[in-house]
Amino acid sequence: MGDGAWDVDRFSSGLTAGLVAALAGGRDALSLARALTGCAMAAEAVCSERPMACAAGCPHCCVLNVSILLPEGMVIADWVQERLSPPALGALRERLAAHCCWVRWMEDEERITKQTVCPMLDTAGRCSIHPVRPLVCRAVASLDRTSCREAFNPIITDEVRLVPADLLRQAAFDAAFMALAQALRHHGLDDRSIELGAGVLAFLDGPECRERLLCGGRLPGALWQ
Ligand code: SF4
Repeated sequence: MGDGAWDVDRFSSGLTAGLVAALAGGRDALSLARALTGCAMAAEAVCSERPMACAAGCPHCCVLNVSILLPEGMVIADWVQERLSPPALGALRERLAAHCCWVRWMEDEERITKQTVCPMLDTAGRCSIHPVRPLVCRAVASLDRTSCREAFNPIITDEVRLVPADLLRQAAFDAAFMALAQALRHHGLDDRSIELGAGVLAFLDGPECRERLLCGGRLPGALWQ
């Protein structure tokens, strides 16, 4: 789809209305997961034919902060719980907890310098949760691998390091993220965003967060500290 043919405001309002209607039928885990999938597919449809340099095994940008909406944390937690053995799940929990402590209060510049690699990255540099990866991750599409390698090189420099990126993809997924947050808010559900590791851990660590989210309660503030 060409940039000129796409209207972000129309896309946002249409997607928000669709998500509000989809969640009107039920606020259970399945409805939230379906709404999230629909949200990602709608944004992907805007930009699926466009070129990108990103590919499996090219993880340079996977050191940056990733914010997710709470249903994303719930869906990712369910996905890994269904697929990982108890020891592998235990190891992931430990990596998530250690990463949360490590990156707390870090800005992206420091994350690059310290190479705070995402705990969801596998040993081959691929996203281990690719089918359910966050909307924020889907929003990123570099147009040049070399620029990425240089921009995320952990050297300290005053130079401005830019990566040419697909701005239409960014706009579509940003709009999708906001539309989902608005639909959650409309139905009285917790619409806050949270750091990826903390959000996934919250739903892995017990049923309380899931119950609270689905009942329209607020998740504990301690998760954000
Ligand atoms: S969730 Fe996947 S794509 Fe996103 S930062 Fe982590 S490894 Fe990279």
